[in-house]
Order: sequence, then structure tokens, then C-alpha cells
Amino acid sequence: MNEIQREIIICKIHKKAMSYILSSVLLLSSLNCTDISAYDNKDIYPSKLKMQAKYQSELQGESKTESQLQTEVQTESQLQTQPQPETETQTQLQTETQTQPQSQALTETQTQPDSQSEMNSEYQQTEPDTSSENTVELPLMNRFKSKKVKKYAYLKKAIMSYDANLKRIKKIKKGIQYYHVKKYKNGYSMIKRGNEVLYAKTKYLTYKSNTKTFVDKNDRLYTYSDMVSDIQKLKKIYPNIFHSEIVGKTPDKRNIYSITLGNPNANNTIFVECSIHAREYTNTHVLMKIIEETCSNYGTGKYKGKKLSDIYNQTKLVILPMVNPDGVSISQFGPKSIRNKKLRNRIVKVGKGRYSHWKANARCVDLNRNFVQGFGHESAKHPSSEEYAGKKPLSEPEAIAEHDTIKSCKPKSIIFVHEAGQVIYYRRKSKLLNVVRTHTHYKLEKEDNVKFGSAADYADKLGITNCTIENGTVPAPLSHWQFYGIYFRSRNLFTDAAMIYMK
Ligand SMILES: [Zn+2]
Repeated sequence: MNEIQREIIICKIHKKAMSYILSSVLLLSSLNCTDISAYDNKDIYPSKLKMQAKYQSELQGESKTESQLQTEVQTESQLQTQPQPETETQTQLQTETQTQPQSQALTETQTQPDSQSEMNSEYQQTEPDTSSENTVELPLMNRFKSKKVKKYAYLKKAIMSYDANLKRIKKIKKGIQYYHVKKYKNGYSMIKRGNEVLYAKTKYLTYKSNTKTFVDKNDRLYTYSDMVSDIQKLKKIYPNIFHSEIVGKTPDKRNIYSITLGNPNANNTIFVECSIHAREYTNTHVLMKIIEETCSNYGTGKYKGKKLSDIYNQTKLVILPMVNPDGVSISQFGPKSIRNKKLRNRIVKVGKGRYSHWKANARCVDLNRNFVQGFGHESAKHPSSEEYAGKKPLSEPEAIAEHDTIKSCKPKSIIFVHEAGQVIYYRRKSKLLNVVRTHTHYKLEKEDNVKFGSAADYADKLGITNCTIENGTVPAPLSHWQFYGIYFRSRNLFTDAAMIYMK
């Protein structure tokens, strides 16, 4: 061994010793370092996750074994599939947030109040919650800087969601709408679906709806079950802006649905009634298509220069898309669609083989004659396919459901949607009437003050602005091709009506 060789060996020993010392120092310092947000390098991300897992178990007071922690870290790392250039995505998002004015959030309970510096600031350090005595139980995500986003977002693909301690919760699907509440420095975001708060990787969020449309314009016979299926899909995909509830049951045990489109806590409400008359079901089809389009454009869409989210944040639509589902089924499929034998037999007796023109419900009561004001005036004396008012006012569950929904949602205005020859009926002039006229171009027909026990008579009694749209070139039932004309006329009608009450 010559001099040089010895020198090299000594050098190697020194180097090894130095690196050993260095790594020991690093290990020791990392054990003391609780601010894991300091690590941003991807290469050491597994150790960051290990720290997170450790921190988490400490918070939970669990003494996890090293192997348990290792497993958690491994699974977390596995989830990190195909890392994207995160900085680029973040910058893009940041620019978007900065250029767009902040819109009012529908549900701001989880978010912090706005601050002036928010728009131009970097991520803000989340303030620790000092409200409770036990501040030790801080969730992990509270340790990262965050900034508010307040937009509707969708997932680019199915991904894993986490809780505030970055513990895996469940896989979440592509295409479902979330409310993007906050973006955190560590690459995660707080998202909300209804009342459910989750955390997901920011890079997998997109702001444009990427859901396939499903309310089928080409469906030649839009039935009660088509509507129910569409309501369930809308509810699942757009949980923040589409709400539905069952507000009554028909005599043949079908559900009467009420849909709320927009901010459920909006200051203003427009009530929309559809298919109270059985044969007028094309309107339900049109309305469901418009609801779907409004939902999918909600996050990014505008009308007359105003954001849809701003419009529907101030005014919501409360819609009964099919007040008379038993009647619709009779008109579409005849008495065989009615399951109750007693009801079916009476329908056969009354209908005498003609069912497509049916207007009444399954008890042969015209629901638009069953309200209190003017009850019995010029009505049929016996159960009939139309114009029979019933034994007494509000004898029918469908009329009660509509009556009670109007009463509880306290609308500023009401649009009654019927089908009988392109007319708009009204009693008093209003901004609403102008909007309806502008979109439909139907002729206006002023009604006298004679009452018939209709829902419009009830609205008048309450002093609510209202008008009745009669769609279709001929009396219902309409051929399917008429769908398109009604659809193009009504497409923006409801949004425009909602804008009447915008501040
Ligand atoms: Zn009608």
C-alpha cells in the first residue's frame, strides 16, 4: 500500500464518518421538528408522510409500532400516482383565483370570514382554534398555510379522500360536484359536498363540470320514473346546488317531489308549478332538462354578464316538477298504470277508453280546481277526467302538497306552467310578466277576477305575483317535437326571472 492509496482510504473513512454524523444530526433535528410543512422536496416526501402519521398517532394518543407507521406511509406513497408538476397547477389555480372576484359562498359555515389581504396574499397560516379548552386535539391540516378558493369543483378522476388528519376516508368519484373551500400549501384542498367535509389533492380538481348529461332530450315519452331517476342523479352529482324532497304521496302511492335549485338559504324564492294537469307532462321534461343545464353551468356559467352562482345565490327556484304523477301515468299508459284496483275501476268508468287527454288525478279530481278560493265555481259535478273540484277544498294530497309548499317557501313570485296554446294568463302586470313575455313571445291574456279554486287563485289570495304560461301550439298531450320549441323559449326564462330580485 503506497502513500496515495492510504490517503484515499483515510479519506473514505472520514467521508463515511462525516455522512454518518450528518445523518444522525438530521435525524435528531427532524425528530424535534414538528413543522413538517417545511419539507417541500418530493424526494423526502415519504419521510414527511411518516412524520404526519406519527404526529397523527400522537394526537390520537395511540402508540403505534414502527411497522404500523411504515405501512401507513407506504400506502400513502402508493396513492401518489404519477406526480404532476404541482407548482404549475398551483400557479394556474392561483391566477384564476386572483382574477375572478370572490362570489358569495352558499355555505360559509366552514370558512373563515373574508379579509382584505386575502386576494393578493400567499397562503395564509390557518389560525389555531382556541375556542375549546383542549387545543391539543388540533387536526393535522390546521398546521398548513391555506387560502380560500370558494368555487365549485369537480374531480378529474376517481381519487382517495382524506379527513383533516390526512387519514384515508374513501375513494371519491369523478364528475361529482364539490365546493372547493380552501387550498393548502401541502398540495391538499378542503372540499365540501353538502355537509360533508373532505380533503383531496388539489391537482385533481377542475372547475368545469365534466359530467355527461343524462336528461334525455330525445326521450319521446318522459315518464314519472324517468323524472325520479333524473332527480336522484342530479342530487348525487350536484349536492351543493340541487336539493330535493318528497312533499307528498299520491292516492296511488307515487311521490310528489319538490326541487330546490340554488342556495337553499337565498333571500328570494320563485315557485314553479308543473304538470298539475296530467296530460301536460312535456313541461316536466323541459323543466328537468333546464334544471340539469343550470346545474352543470352553475360553477362557471354566466347570464347577461352575471355569474349563475351569484344569481342563484340570491334567488332560489322551488319547483314541483310533477304535481300529478298518477294523472301523468294515466295519460301516458292508461288505467293499467294505476295499481290500486278501486281507483283503477273508477278511472275506467269515467274515462270510457279515452285516457291520453286525462287532466285529473287518480281520484278523478282536477287538482287545479281543488284549492280553497272559488272552490266549486263552474266545476264538474261528478268525478271526471277534468274540471271536477272534489268533495271539498284541499281534499287531494297533491293539492295539499302544493298548497303547503307555497305556504312554507314564501315565494316572491310564482310561475304556473301549463300546456294549452301559447298564451300567458295574468291578472296584474309585473316584471315577472315582462320576463315571461320576452322569452316566450306568447300573447297576453288578462283574466277577470272570477275564481275557480285554482292554485293561481290561492297565489292571488296570498298577494303573490304570478302568471300562467300555456305552452304548446295545440292542447296537450303534445307530440314530442314540441319539446324543442318549449325548451328554446324557456331555457333562460327562469334564470332571467331570478335576476329580477338581484341586488
Ligand atoms: Zn293545464
